[in-house]
Amino acid sequence: MTIHRHDLHLDTVADTDIHDLTGDVSRVVADSGIREGQVLVFTPGSTAAITTIEFESGALDDFKRLFEQLAPSGGEYAHNLRWHDGNGYSHVRAALLGPSLTVPIVAGQLVLGTWQQIILCEFDNRPRQRRVVVQVMGDG
Ligand code: ZN
Repeated sequence: MTIHRHDLHLDTVADTDIHDLTGDVSRVVADSGIREGQVLVFTPGSTAAITTIEFESGALDDFKRLFEQLAPSGGEYAHNLRWHDGNGYSHVRAALLGPSLTVPIVAGQLVLGTWQQIILCEFDNRPRQRRVVVQVMGDG
């Protein structure tokens, strides 16, 4: 088994800024030479998350609205009372989705649906520089 790692770096803006990582992750998988295995996509940090969605404006708007309903940005959060950084909603949104995703690799390709893109969601209330660790594991 081989493990190949590459880090992605991206600049985000505040409040559910959504980035499509599919192309970058596919390139890392292709560069790894691994034909059968898995790729882990992970972002360190407690106010961003990784998941999949159909990357089109309607679904993205629906997704953003869902989080505003679930964890309103103007709500009351114990985290804000304790830390005064105003991003209590960011932490609980990120925790709901989680920081990582694993995708199978079969015949050198990511096993994703046609309308299933890998996304990073920036939930913080300020712009951030994000690191995404892409770790490919398997056999060539
Ligand atoms: Zn905070």
